[in-house]
Amino acid sequence: HSTINKLALISVSDKTGILDFGRELHSLGFALIASGGTGKALRSVGIPVRDVSDLTGFPELIGGRVKTLHPTIHAGILCQMTKRDLDDLKLHGIQPISVVVCNLYPFEELVKKAGVSIEEAVENIDIGGVTLLRAAAKNHTRVLVVCDPADYKIAYEKLVEDEWPEKGLGFRQQMAVKAFQHTCNYDRCISQHFSKIFNVFRGEKELRYGMNPHQKPAFICPPEGLSSLPFSVINGDPGYINLLDALNAYQLVYELSMISEGQFPAAASFKHVSPAGAALGLPLSVDEAKVYLVDDMMLEMTPMAAAYARARGADRMSSFGDFIALSHLCDEATAKIIGREVSDGIIAPSYSNTALEILKKKKNGKFVILLMKTEYMPPEMESRTVYGLTLAQKRNDALIDESLFSCIVSDKKALTPETKRDLLIAAASAKYTQSNSIIIVYNGQVIGTGAGQQSRIHCTQLACQKALNWWLRFHPKVLSLKFKAGVKRSVKSNVVESFLAQQLGEITSFLEEEPIMITSDEKAEWKQNLKGASLCSDAFFPFRDCVDLASEYGIENVISPCGSVNDEEVIKAANEHGMVFVQSKFRLFHH
Ligand code: 5GP
Repeated sequence: HSTINKLALISVSDKTGILDFGRELHSLGFALIASGGTGKALRSVGIPVRDVSDLTGFPELIGGRVKTLHPTIHAGILCQMTKRDLDDLKLHGIQPISVVVCNLYPFEELVKKAGVSIEEAVENIDIGGVTLLRAAAKNHTRVLVVCDPADYKIAYEKLVEDEWPEKGLGFRQQMAVKAFQHTCNYDRCISQHFSKIFNVFRGEKELRYGMNPHQKPAFICPPEGLSSLPFSVINGDPGYINLLDALNAYQLVYELSMISEGQFPAAASFKHVSPAGAALGLPLSVDEAKVYLVDDMMLEMTPMAAAYARARGADRMSSFGDFIALSHLCDEATAKIIGREVSDGIIAPSYSNTALEILKKKKNGKFVILLMKTEYMPPEMESRTVYGLTLAQKRNDALIDESLFSCIVSDKKALTPETKRDLLIAAASAKYTQSNSIIIVYNGQVIGTGAGQQSRIHCTQLACQKALNWWLRFHPKVLSLKFKAGVKRSVKSNVVESFLAQQLGEITSFLEEEPIMITSDEKAEWKQNLKGASLCSDAFFPFRDCVDLASEYGIENVISPCGSVNDEEVIKAANEHGMVFVQSKFRLFHH
């Protein structure tokens, strides 16, 4: 071990355990050098130690801002055992350092305290210590760096075992990574603190609060390498959940429009991070326009406006106070529809001037308007923190396209271009719906969503119920309800719900004429007319019950991954009901 120079440098703020470790290093034959306070502490218990300033010939300068920053120290740490380096050291009388024990000024603890001044915080930015750690970690092939008092024991054991320098490389690598993490966390802490008190954000945006009003502070930041967010806030003050909705919904409408190969724009109406509705902008029939409360706008209807009318109209109750995403320009007609609905905000790639004027007036000027940059490419990896722990994964970049139809496992295999489109819309929607999820799509739009349920049958029940409810709203008896002038749009949807639930008493005051009851038989008969709908399940069906149920609600096409022990039974059910069952290659859980 002729190459080991038994010289250890110690410079620690947190002096926990340092006296024992210093004594142990000394007992192993290490000569110790230390910065001022650390040296004093070691010396006070009789451990022989030299001061850094002794070696460098410089005292600690300018109030301790410069302690260990000196070529004698850093060449000693960074040198390799090459002739070139050893010649340099010899020429300048420098000794190689083999162990660096260092931890940094307690910046994080300090700034957590109330009333810390800028000066105090600045003085607690460790400079030399970070340099020591980085230098030692960089040169880990030769140098052992210890930054955590919890590692003193194992470090000592490794040194005793004399697993060094040849065999101890693995341990030194481990300790080097730890040191890099230590400085990395330290710098993050510093930048966060000063960005806050100097009000300089690295492209971050402060949010009013997090998921709940008591969760403060809250902010959103761009990904590493981007200096600004990929959207701008044109109006309003988006909250945390608004942004969860906006960023999920925008991805969905972008993908939906791609499914139609750009032929139709798409819109989504999000609530609590799941779509309440999502649709392509297919032309509206007169009845559809009526059901979606846009029959007064038929002359000015545009594909974008139709898409939103459909997305908003699918489940009006759930969409109350929604966050909207549009795949294309928000034009005047779309803004007009939005203008009269209760809604929280919108994200779109562009807005016409008149549309902006209309939208800015909403919610007393507080309506959130986000402009999405279409050129934004998200990084491949995404992460989130739960209970202080970071989970990271490759983002869900599953491509929802025709390739999903390569494996049709039912007897019936024929899909029309429309049912293929609807299955893809269902799958794309499932990709952005809280799991478990079941999505039912008909004629280019989501008509039933069962989201966030722990059991698949409950999702299916919800989705089917919603699809049926949507369908019943086209019943002639519903279409002929005559609302009094001035009845609010939100009240109209509640009246329809009550009417369908046959709770007439409460609703007559909103109607011009006594409504004609819809009987259970009529409802059942009307239900039979719903045919050719498509359903996506975000994961496999554990039992055939979901498929059996779906068949009662006009669902004839299903896309779902397989993998259940009951697959055979599930597919048998699909065959019994004459359904097309597409085995998807993607499970689409989303949380
Ligand atoms: P001590 O208590 O030994 O006087 O100081 C130990 C602390 O000083 C350690 O936290 C170490 O990271 C830090 N330190 C070491 N060298 C320098 C330096 O050159 N400048 C500054 N500002 N801090 C240093």
